[in-house]
Amino acid sequence: MLRIMASSLLLLQTLFVGNIALAQQKKESFNYSDLLRSIETGEVRKITIDPATNIANVYLKKETDNKAEQVKLFNQNPELIAKIRSKKIDFAVESSAASSAAVINLMQIGLLLLLIFGLFLLIKRSASTAAGAMNFGKSRARFQMEAATGVEFKDVAGIEEAKEELQEVVIFLKTPDKFTAVGAKIPRGVLLVGPPGTGKTLLAKAIAGEAQVPFFSISGSEFVEMFVGVGASRVRDLFRKAKENAPCLVFIDEIDAVGRQRGAGIGGGNDEREQTLNQLLTEMDGFEGNTGIIVIAATNRPDVLDSALLRPGRFDRQVIVDYPDMKGRLGILEVHGANKKIDPQVSLETIAQRTPGFSGADLANLLNEAAILTVRRRKEAITMAEIDAAIDRVIAGMEGTPLVDGKSKRLIAYHEIGHGIVGTLTKGHDPVEKVTLIPRGQARGLTWFTPDEEQGLVSRTQLFARITGLLGGRAAEDVIFGEAEITTGAGNDIERVTSLTRQMVTKFGMSDLGPIALEDDNQPIFLGNDSVNRSDYSQEIAEKIDKQIRSIVFQCYQNAKQIIQENRPVIDMLVDLLIEKETIDGDSFREIVNNYTSKSLEIAR
Ligand code: ADP
Ligand code: MG
Ligand code: ZN
Repeated sequence: MLRIMASSLLLLQTLFVGNIALAQQKKESFNYSDLLRSIETGEVRKITIDPATNIANVYLKKETDNKAEQVKLFNQNPELIAKIRSKKIDFAVESSAASSAAVINLMQIGLLLLLIFGLFLLIKRSASTAAGAMNFGKSRARFQMEAATGVEFKDVAGIEEAKEELQEVVIFLKTPDKFTAVGAKIPRGVLLVGPPGTGKTLLAKAIAGEAQVPFFSISGSEFVEMFVGVGASRVRDLFRKAKENAPCLVFIDEIDAVGRQRGAGIGGGNDEREQTLNQLLTEMDGFEGNTGIIVIAATNRPDVLDSALLRPGRFDRQVIVDYPDMKGRLGILEVHGANKKIDPQVSLETIAQRTPGFSGADLANLLNEAAILTVRRRKEAITMAEIDAAIDRVIAGMEGTPLVDGKSKRLIAYHEIGHGIVGTLTKGHDPVEKVTLIPRGQARGLTWFTPDEEQGLVSRTQLFARITGLLGGRAAEDVIFGEAEITTGAGNDIERVTSLTRQMVTKFGMSDLGPIALEDDNQPIFLGNDSVNRSDYSQEIAEKIDKQIRSIVFQCYQNAKQIIQENRPVIDMLVDLLIEKETIDGDSFREIVNNYTSKSLEIAR
């Protein structure tokens, strides 16, 4: 490609040279005085002049085939023009190809203009940005104000203690006089502490809604700007507006983004953040007595907050907003189910049971997913089928396509049935919910267990059972396919086993090392202090911990393997069924296992 182009260029060049040579030859044969003479004698039919090159093309009468003689003209040729006029010769000024020089000139000018225009735009833009930076804090205050949130306490469920604590704040906002009359000081700040999605924002809105006061909100992360001083001026703006609208509620979300311990951690020396924080503290100290403003802040990292924020008169009240328990989840499901069409067959209790660890936001999302699925399936109302699918999806991710039959599918089936049977036959284990070969998220097969009841406290027996059940998958691979064939599929199980066992040894005091806390997980996660690599135990203890962990895991693994070995026939049966059906629900699973074990008991007798 490249080579062809080069040769054609060369060709073009030779042509050019030829042309020039031709022109020169002709010039020699027909010069300026020839031209004057032939005009005089009337031999010329037509003349065109190219102003760019100052060459005249002279068409002679005797040359019929439009061939022109070329004559280089002088700069000024008044006599020529006069002669042409007097002889009435066809005359024109024509820009030929050769005048492209002029075109190029024009293009250059155009380009220059464009450049200048672009530059002008650029300058104008940067000027306006600079201007924007100057009045950032003033004109673009990024707090939101809602005159009425429309949220009430009944919209918030499952966090009853927090709600009760905050009822009082509503009364502060509604009837401050009652408190001032007896000389009580109304608290200024309340800190809501809890994991994401548990309803902190919702709760703050509900307080404003119940008290019927405006709701001002800003997120801590929005304070973190690139210009020093912007955050502080935003805080000032926010409180100025709040004072104008008192009584009202100011909500600061993610306060840990600005309220981190000063002078510690990775962000140490962040001037902007410190200034913002200082301004916040100043503002909170600033409103005297009962101005009718209550500040509510939310965080999920109270441990990193600057202690100055937590002093009396600031955020001295802390309210924990935790994951809802079973009853709480039921309440939340009722709130979010109220505006949805749900089949009367659906038991919200069952859903609440199946969703330990779900936050309010997760539950809201769950019902919404189920509703979407219902529409997609063209059903009238949400049924348990859609809810099950939605739970699975929220917990384990998107459903994939099942594997085709083969050795690998068989192995996965044995692995899952291994979990199922070990879980079913180990005392203290949660019951099997279902076993499935339909892949989901990262997993290629899944065994679900239903937590039996609300598990606030977990016993040693239960933990042992959990570890044994988790090892059931690998144990099945090992026993049935042999040690050489075990797969990486158990990686996640083994990770969980290890972390669970480590906690048993180092946190819960459930090993031979006795009830000693050997690890403290409340350490700040950011660097700064000497917290890196700090452990509360010596090398010697570390070895002992490892030994304890290994002994627990080994014991559980032996138990799991034994269960697999002793129940081989029913496992084979279950595997065949699973491969055929793809999913076995918990009740059928237990029935098959019970039938088999009672039969084998009879035989043994
Ligand atoms: P957080 O601020 O704690 O991260 P949000 O208040 O933003 O959580 O909760 C997000 C959404 O989840 C809410 O708008 C609401 O729909 C739902 N939600 C969370 N917790 C609850 C709850 N306790 N009761 C009812 N709905 C809740
Ligand atoms: Mg929030
Ligand atoms: Zn597994």
